[in-house]
Amino acid sequence: MTYSYMTHLVCPKCGKTYNPEEIHQLCVCGSPLLVDYDYEKLKHEWKKEDLISRQDNLWRYHELLPVKNEENAVTMGEGGTPVLPVAKMGEQYGIPALFMKDEGLIPTGSFKARGAAVGLSKAKELGVKKFAMPTNGNAGAAWSLYAARAGIEANIVMPVDAPVTTRKECAASGARLWLVNGLISDAGKMVGELVAKEGYYDASTLKEPYRIEGKKTMGLEIAEQFGWQVPDVILYPTGGGVGLIGIYKALVELQKLGWIAADKLPRLVAVQAEGCAPIVKAWEEGKRESEFWQDSKTGAFGINVPKAIGDFLVLDALYETNGCAVAVQESEIHTEQLEVASKEGLFICPEGAAVFAAAKKLRADNWIKEEDQVVLLNTGLGIKYADDLEVEFPVLEPGESLKIKGWEFGAIGRCGQH
Ligand SMILES: *Cc1c(COP(=O)(O)O)cnc(C)c1O
Ligand SMILES: [Zn+2]
Repeated sequence: MTYSYMTHLVCPKCGKTYNPEEIHQLCVCGSPLLVDYDYEKLKHEWKKEDLISRQDNLWRYHELLPVKNEENAVTMGEGGTPVLPVAKMGEQYGIPALFMKDEGLIPTGSFKARGAAVGLSKAKELGVKKFAMPTNGNAGAAWSLYAARAGIEANIVMPVDAPVTTRKECAASGARLWLVNGLISDAGKMVGELVAKEGYYDASTLKEPYRIEGKKTMGLEIAEQFGWQVPDVILYPTGGGVGLIGIYKALVELQKLGWIAADKLPRLVAVQAEGCAPIVKAWEEGKRESEFWQDSKTGAFGINVPKAIGDFLVLDALYETNGCAVAVQESEIHTEQLEVASKEGLFICPEGAAVFAAAKKLRADNWIKEEDQVVLLNTGLGIKYADDLEVEFPVLEPGESLKIKGWEFGAIGRCGQH
């Protein structure tokens, strides 16, 4: 039995193809490379029913993943995250069929584990011994920990403002970590220099073609969890955009296999923060690429990406699905984060909270209709950002009695405010 039906790497910009048995980073034209599969053969040899007996993790879709030899899969059981109804928020927004896919429930506490699992498994298969990458926190944490499991050396550069927990995950894993007094774009330049000088594998977002294959499994799972009837709208917090591009790629691949209807894709929504909204600006102007966002700033750190190398792929996915891009305010992110925790019991990350705020806004604008089935991606655990949430409580001496009256404490600060 064939474990992977990968055939080659292809450039979405110029169409040039590459041999996947070799290490490749970007296309000679500068574009990211994507993985292609033998969809015709897969159509005949792979059936939905084959999934029934498989474990509930992302490797259940191994035919549509790039790892050729099962033994190279570096796994901690990632994937198979739940789609939860969030009915109280849905009622508040006027979206009765509102769901949240919870990527907080995954090793390392963010969906970055999907990209790290598949990216590092493939790197291992290709014989990579050392890699370097810039990160806003969660990717560095995930890649460091999966690298430890794979026996590969991790070199990570992270902005000093990134969530402290992610820094500690890197430290615990034994990765080499540098903090930079700047943005992820500054970290990226430093990694580029190191890669050029030392010949390390460049694991920067979309500079290796396999991270996206891991992230695309969110799209495969959503389709399967909805019984191969895709929802009407999917909202995703967009930084580098790999998750959104991945979900789109997954759905198009499922159409090629005939597993979902050929005439319906969910409208994909890229959600950004007002302090860093290059994709939103490009979408509003009808452009196919974004411009560098000056002085970007948001507490939703995973989406603080001033210029994404795959921006044109994100925008394509929005245009192709009649989707849109929307920016939300920091105060809205904060409000929704606490709303969702106090109403639904879900302590989501600020990026996930941005998506809730966007759903509220799009429903108010009637872009989302009352009858739409809507899926929100919560990309990580609120706990990972707990240090950023300012709280205040009464401190008592032993023996003092508790006074209920006048208790007016709790979360006071904005989660992720810098
Ligand atoms: C990285 C990250 C994002 C953005 O994901 P992309 O796929 O790079 O757009 C969103 N949320 C969290 C929590 C992240 O860590
Ligand atoms: Zn090219």
